[in-house]
Amino acid sequence: MSKLRKILLIDDDRVQQRLMHEMVKNFRSGPFELEQAATYEDGLKKILTGKYAACLLDYRLDDRDGLALLREARIAGCVTPVIVLTADDSEEVDIAAMEAGAVDYLVKGSLTPRLLERSLRYALKLDETLAQLRMLALRDELTRLLNRREFQRILEEEWDRSMRFKRPFALVMVDIDHFKRINDTYGHQTGDEVLRHVASLLAGQVRNVDRVARYGGEEFAIIMVETDRQSAIDSMHRLGALLAETPCVIGNYLTIEVTLSAGVASSLFDATNASDLVAAADRALYAAKEGGRNRIVSADGTVVVFKET
Ligand code: GH3
Ligand code: MG
Ligand code: MG
Repeated sequence: MSKLRKILLIDDDRVQQRLMHEMVKNFRSGPFELEQAATYEDGLKKILTGKYAACLLDYRLDDRDGLALLREARIAGCVTPVIVLTADDSEEVDIAAMEAGAVDYLVKGSLTPRLLERSLRYALKLDETLAQLRMLALRDELTRLLNRREFQRILEEEWDRSMRFKRPFALVMVDIDHFKRINDTYGHQTGDEVLRHVASLLAGQVRNVDRVARYGGEEFAIIMVETDRQSAIDSMHRLGALLAETPCVIGNYLTIEVTLSAGVASSLFDATNASDLVAAADRALYAAKEGGRNRIVSADGTVVVFKET
């Protein structure tokens, strides 16, 4: 049996609420659970939690505009599929609903359980497809980390924020040491496993607000927000130490130990634009490689060597 999915109904009319509950209860697909919000504010608050598989939204909420709620939710980054319910069948409402970001619009007077169920099913399917597309567009296929394009976009955004509020963020470029040897010794599939292992360790250890991307082959980029150089070095040191304790285990017999080199640069001290910041972190990374690998170098010249494993 498929798992229970929550649908949010935003409607101020009690009769309509009861009617919808009856309809949803008798759906053949599902199971669905209908939760409701009777006001604009409550509806907006609930939809922004992101926990609903879909939302049924009344076009008129007392004297408020349901589509304004939808626009507000979209601006706030909400991607929940929304079906708009209206009292009147008009082309203008249809188009306005679509432009506000609705996936469908249904006229209450001619609504049947079958029609509602069908619309909901399409909305959920569309949502699934869009989620897959977002994933393909923003993430690297092998590691599921952010891809380079998305990294670049976030970097520019963080750069602007950092300049505006004079708050630092750190950029860390990370490169696996002697990765080519792993490929040459064990083959590319094992190399891929090692990449996934390092990626999941990096992604699992940074704070929620930090961003980890696969920058290229065996190179990763980490944006640590609200972080100065020293704290970035400390975090990277913890990460490297953890990696040393957590080798990559392949199947039953093979354990591969890897080390990292990292270059750290700060938005407030080491660059005058985002692309210079990447160059500064890259130079530091290069210095880490030149210095003997298995270490962190910061743009101000600080060097921290990891313990030999
Ligand atoms: P260094 O310590 O100087 O970084 O040496 P390295 O061997 O790690 O660096 P180098 O740049 O010489 O080699 C990187 C290798 O990473 C070469 C490339 O074939 C491999 N690589 C890049 N992308 C992938 C991938 O997606 N999967 C696998 N298995 N290997 C990859
Ligand atoms: Mg390397
Ligand atoms: Mg490399």
